[in-house]
Amino acid sequence: MTARASDAIVIGGGLVGAAIAHGLRDQGLDTVLLDEGDIAFRASRGNFGLVWVQSKGLGAPWYQQWTRNSAAAWPDLAQDLTARTGLNLSLLQPGGIGLCLTEAEFEDRSRRMEQMRAEAGNFGFDYRMIRSHELRDMLPGLGPTVVGGSFTPYDGHVSPLALLQSLHRVFTEAGGAYIPNAKVTSGTAAPNDFRVETAAGTFTAPRIVLAAGLGNAELAPLFGLNAPVRPQKGQVLVTERARTILPMPTTSIRQTGEGSIMLGESQEEAGFDLSQQPPVMATIAERAVRSFPWIAELNIVRAWSALRVMAPDGLPIYDQSDRFPGAFTANCHSGVTLAGAHARMLAPMIAAGALDPLLAPFSAKRFDVQNAA
Ligand SMILES: Cc1cc2nc3c(=O)[nH]c(=O)nc-3n(C[C@H](O)[C@H](O)[C@H](O)COP(=O)(O)OP(=O)(O)OC[C@H]3O[C@@H](n4cnc5c(N)ncnc54)[C@H](O)[C@@H]3O)c2cc1C
Repeated sequence: MTARASDAIVIGGGLVGAAIAHGLRDQGLDTVLLDEGDIAFRASRGNFGLVWVQSKGLGAPWYQQWTRNSAAAWPDLAQDLTARTGLNLSLLQPGGIGLCLTEAEFEDRSRRMEQMRAEAGNFGFDYRMIRSHELRDMLPGLGPTVVGGSFTPYDGHVSPLALLQSLHRVFTEAGGAYIPNAKVTSGTAAPNDFRVETAAGTFTAPRIVLAAGLGNAELAPLFGLNAPVRPQKGQVLVTERARTILPMPTTSIRQTGEGSIMLGESQEEAGFDLSQQPPVMATIAERAVRSFPWIAELNIVRAWSALRVMAPDGLPIYDQSDRFPGAFTANCHSGVTLAGAHARMLAPMIAAGALDPLLAPFSAKRFDVQNAA
């Protein structure tokens, strides 16, 4: 069978791969997006939908800045996607609150936020620690035991499924080729010359982007790259629809565009296990009811678990292969938040053939240094 040649291959049709593929197509590259299919682990179909900034980049100001840039790119991205697809992404960026249920949480959060501000330098970091009496005016029905919360104006939320669908649609309508059921099983690499085999055929291109989520760990060595990512389980609960009441999201409670309340999410080191754990679900629900007692009146209508894609230090991995120029890798645990950066900043760098030096701290080489230490 003859190989299909294109300008770029992106492996992985989740939020990271779809955002990059869309960005590459918009840069004029003939791009093929290869996706494993329904049996794969797919964080992009099970996440919480926050565009969340306030907790990103403590001790890593380059990540704080990247996240802020992404959040700033979001309004234009959403407007463009909606104009081109007609899909409503329900993007709202009114700011967000990290709720604190105890004094110890409030003190700890205050310290972290102040550190974020100090590390932001000239970039600035606008935040406020808000006590419960003031927070009650911002968040109707706040529970009596809530101590306070952290606010930044940068946070927001979006429908992650509408995002994924619209990224796929703009990509294919612009002439990109999305190939489902195309798990990459092997590949060969030479500088700016890549070939991959899948059940759906053979594909070649001078550029390749590994954006296969947890699948990147296995793929990266084929292309002179390293992606030591592991699964981290998160469980999410969703209530029946309620009248619109929450004007802004909190870290673990948000009201969707349709009115349901999403509650979550846990952080569990359970390998590739996707089972739902009633004790964990009970803890999520209990914390939600302490935050907003009226939530107890709502029925839970859906619950699921999904696996995050985590690097050892929790930061994204963006890398390019020294051995095989033209090969790139992208992994992160905030693919909703970072969709703006991936489509609008990362993709143009890949199209130009090299990552900006600003992304150097995200290279997986940092793990070589850590391992050698
Ligand atoms: C419970 C939970 C809550 C979350 N909440 C948020 C949030 O509020 N905000 C936020 O920003 N982020 C959140 N995230 C993280 C976000 O969902 C992920 O960062 C993002 O979905 C990762 O996208 P991805 O494309 O890298 O991976 P995935 O969605 O896992 O997609 C990987 C894709 O690669 C394909 N694939 C794998 N191997 C191969 C192969 N060999 N060949 C071809 N294709 C392959 C798979 O088919 C899959 O489609 C959350 C995640 C979880 C689990």
